[in-house]
Amino acid sequence: MTSTSPPHSESPNATSCGGLPPKECSQNTDRTSLIGLDRACFESALVKLGERSYRAKQIWHWLYYQGARTFDEMTTLPKSLRTRLSSSCNIDRPTVNRMQQSEDGALKWLVQFADEREVECVHIPEEDRGALCISSQVGCTLTCRFCHTGTQKLVRNLDAGEIVNQVLIARDTIGEWPSPKDGRMISNIVMMGMGEPLYNFDNVARALRIIMDGEGISLSRRRITLSTAGVVPLIERCGRELGVNLAVSLHAVDDELRNQIVPINKKYPIADLLEACRRYPSGRNSRRITFEYVMLKGVNDSDSDARALVRLLDGVPAKVNLIPFNAWPGAPYQCSSNNRMHSFADIINDGGYSAPIRVPRGRDILAACGQLKSDSEQVKRNRTGLS
Ligand code: SAH
Repeated sequence: MTSTSPPHSESPNATSCGGLPPKECSQNTDRTSLIGLDRACFESALVKLGERSYRAKQIWHWLYYQGARTFDEMTTLPKSLRTRLSSSCNIDRPTVNRMQQSEDGALKWLVQFADEREVECVHIPEEDRGALCISSQVGCTLTCRFCHTGTQKLVRNLDAGEIVNQVLIARDTIGEWPSPKDGRMISNIVMMGMGEPLYNFDNVARALRIIMDGEGISLSRRRITLSTAGVVPLIERCGRELGVNLAVSLHAVDDELRNQIVPINKKYPIADLLEACRRYPSGRNSRRITFEYVMLKGVNDSDSDARALVRLLDGVPAKVNLIPFNAWPGAPYQCSSNNRMHSFADIINDGGYSAPIRVPRGRDILAACGQLKSDSEQVKRNRTGLS
């Protein structure tokens, strides 16, 4: 790891925020930051400010069920309390620096945090539902060769509030407050944006618990998918503690190639990764593990690769997502041809696994897989007059 790497929290003993006094729970701002505190911290933050604990439940409901953006909107609270909370607590959304809509309806937000670092998140609408793709880190340390996010030097972990706020911002824009029960356009959340979520496990877990909380956003774990390049020791913990759907970025069927294109493979090789998948709890029933496979022309797309993939998945309740490679300036690969992708998919289907070829969404606004952040960096270069 270089000195620019963010702190990885692979330790299974890393503590949760639960029960700690509010100072440790909150960000270092003058006002206690409430968004991102787990329920125990949330309550103790308010008790510490002299409030009765039932108020915590009311405020939680306002924030995560009603979508209140100011204490003033919380009309079930006495006016004096609202004033006190406004001066002592922070519930501000981060800044949305830019929002773009693709021709195909995908929406992309460039979100800026207090330290001016930025991430992107993307909404991919279907007819009557939609997935929100959120980020877990600014940049990414993984350096997968086909991914533009990995070329970004600057990396830090997002805190839980910064992760949850991406969902709040998307709901503000799409108009999903108060939390609708049915017919949500943000019906699913995928942790497939910038960063490796399992390298920021504690914050991701805290954020997902807030998103799943039944008295707020209330999104079922069945509607949440966490995508990892394969941080093997934390896959088990993810299943045990969160029980969300798992997606694994496989992209190669032998260690030699995967070492090159997904370098984390040198630490956690394919056999260990597949073993962790076999043990993943949600993989046992109908909730299959998704294996993502980016189609790189002449690199990983031969018939024999497809046959090897089928053999590899033996015994794993799996489906395969074939992702056409999304190019970016200077990318060292090309996307496989349509014919090649279909032949590859046919072999996997014949092997008993579904293997849809994903239709890229939001390519025109650089919102497709692996393209995130490139756009914002471009904007910055333009602002500073560099080409
Ligand atoms: N770090 C996590 C989540 C972020 S990447 C992970 O690796 O799973 C989300 C998905 O987009 C991954 O499957 C990733 O491999 C894929 N991806 C990255 N760059 C891509 C590109 N240029 N074209 C298509 N898919 C890409």
